[in-house]
Amino acid sequence: MSTTVLVIDDSATIREQVIRTLKEVGLFENYLEARDGLEGFKTLIDSKADLVICDVDMPRMDGFKFLQLVESRPELLGVPIIMLTGMMDFDSKIRGLEQGASDYLTKPFDVGELVARVKVQLKIKSLQDELKKANELLKRLTNIDHLTNLFNRRYLAEILDGEFFRARRNKEELSLIIFDIDYFKKVNDTFGHQNGDIVLSAVAQLAQRQLRAYDSAARYGGEEFVLVIPGTGLSGAVMAAERLRQAVLEHSFPAPMEDLTVTISLGVATYPSPTVDSVDSLFRRADEALYRAKQNGRNRVEVMSEPTL
Ligand code: GH3
Ligand code: MG
Ligand code: MG
Repeated sequence: MSTTVLVIDDSATIREQVIRTLKEVGLFENYLEARDGLEGFKTLIDSKADLVICDVDMPRMDGFKFLQLVESRPELLGVPIIMLTGMMDFDSKIRGLEQGASDYLTKPFDVGELVARVKVQLKIKSLQDELKKANELLKRLTNIDHLTNLFNRRYLAEILDGEFFRARRNKEELSLIIFDIDYFKKVNDTFGHQNGDIVLSAVAQLAQRQLRAYDSAARYGGEEFVLVIPGTGLSGAVMAAERLRQAVLEHSFPAPMEDLTVTISLGVATYPSPTVDSVDSLFRRADEALYRAKQNGRNRVEVMSEPTL
């Protein structure tokens, strides 16, 4: 990975000294410089430098103003900034640290100290990056079903609550499709559990492929799945369900299942309707419809029943 340092100072001599020192230890691959805060800020935005060394006293825009600008840009959060201050200038040091600087160096700086402080900041930055990655992975692991890569049941509940809240507030429709693989036990019995897993993830992928940007797919249980479709009414959701039923029916599986035909049964419900005023009732109506699809012969879509007036 290419690393870049940006040195901001109005003195060409200081810039040259700092860069020469860092080049000697080979801590970076790219060395950028700027003569004041504004030039430095623009360079930082363009270059995505990994670390900044910035003078406090500069004409046009000083180091404090530079810190303020950096603070206003979320994408620059976490870039270490080491301030360069005069020997006795304690106020600047404190103010700099309070305004978001990571550390400071006193001018004229000691070469060894510059290198040591830069190394510490790079180490902290890399630990922070690792932590961020680990957190993202953890979030993924908590929300995703590892076999199918769809959202898991826990996260589905969160999504549904959010979407229901939004639909009610914006007076929009929200549809739900629950579907279940037909006679899946037989797939396991005939081809073994591992091949059963292959069928499960293939069906999940077909479902995922049907989705638009704001839709979500989740694995609700063993071979039972849920699609959340915001901004869509009953007829649109039925069309989506029918498309998916057809796609699963026509799908070919790898050997030894090349002759296997898998079908699914689907239940569809929509908010708002006379019998749907909550996440619970939306779910129940879709589940009842799925039950009817099973009873009526499987490989079919059933719609929630409306009360007869
Ligand atoms: P129906 O048409 O009524 O839905 O019949 P079915 O056989 O699909 O339903 P049933 O609920 O009787 O069986 C579901 C099977 O799904 C039983 C279980 O062993 C299997 N199953 C659940 N989770 C997994 C999994 O992660 N992998 C595999 N391979 N099988 C699973
Ligand atoms: Mg089943
Ligand atoms: Mg089942």
